[in-house]
Amino acid sequence: MNPLNEQQIVSIEKILEEKGLDYGPLKEELLDHICCQIENEMTTGNLFSQALQKSLDAFQEDEMKELQTQTLSLLNKNQTFMKRLSFAALITFMVVASVTLLGQIDPPDRSPLNGDIKITSAFGMRMHPIYKVKKKHNGVDFKADPGTPVYATSDGVVVKVEDQEKGYGKHIVIQHDEQFKTLYAQLSRMDVEVGQKVKKGTLIGAVGNSGASTGPHLHYEVIKDGKYENPEHYFRP
Ligand SMILES: [Zn+2]
Repeated sequence: MNPLNEQQIVSIEKILEEKGLDYGPLKEELLDHICCQIENEMTTGNLFSQALQKSLDAFQEDEMKELQTQTLSLLNKNQTFMKRLSFAALITFMVVASVTLLGQIDPPDRSPLNGDIKITSAFGMRMHPIYKVKKKHNGVDFKADPGTPVYATSDGVVVKVEDQEKGYGKHIVIQHDEQFKTLYAQLSRMDVEVGQKVKKGTLIGAVGNSGASTGPHLHYEVIKDGKYENPEHYFRP
């Protein structure tokens, strides 16, 4: 097996940093795990870049969620126990830790768009424009030109970046703290990655018309303790 060269290791280190996974005591261990995984992938004929992508894809959301509860309870246990964590559990731990380390976080009190905003569909019951049935609208719709920049509405960590053919289309979910999540949908472009830390006002993507959408707009949701809230109660236009 060919060990990775210095330059490759430095590039992996940089990615972990960008994803906010550089939590001191665990950084070396995480780096070891990921290098080992990449080396394994490369023995099956993958190029470094492909092996890297595969290894990063391997710790996506579902596995993380499942392990989250388990991992949180490990926070209070001893270091030898930490060493026996699976790679996925380790990643989960670091995401949770980086959210916790962000400290006091504002509720999502910024508008996701700059300048004069126009809400074309409010929160609550409405006739769905495509499905023509009465349905609860879980967020608000902002009318905006395609390509209009979309901003994170509070500090947090990106937990989902997905391209759905229908429904939300291209959409992003940010976890702000234990209580708040926000969702940005129908985008044309997504400029962030899962695991990336964002600040209130960080550019995350652009307005579009992807998914179940009748025209360019931003569909925006505020989720508090798993329940949809009216986003207009949180930001002042
Ligand atoms: Zn909507």
